Amino acid sequence: MSFSCPHFDPNRDFCLRLNTDCVPGRRGCVLGDKVVFAVPVEERLREKEREKREVEWARLNAPLRKPGGGGR
Ligand code: SF4
Repeated sequence: MSFSCPHFDPNRDFCLRLNTDCVPGRRGCVLGDKVVFAVPVEERLREKEREKREVEWARLNAPLRKPGGGGR
């Protein structure tokens, strides 16, 4: 089965209805409790938060660039 949600912003992997990350089946999602997922929503929410922490950590620890570029 496939599903296309009208609230999904694919450019940001974002839920426009809930104004947060799209994690199908999360509280407030249009799917509600009508669908059973192979991976429970709680587990997918934890994984999404872990991914976001890793991205933020990488962003904060990226080497600083000098203004004007790093040419010779
Ligand atoms: S969380 Fe649910 S309502 Fe929101 S975009 Fe994803 S599938 Fe649609």
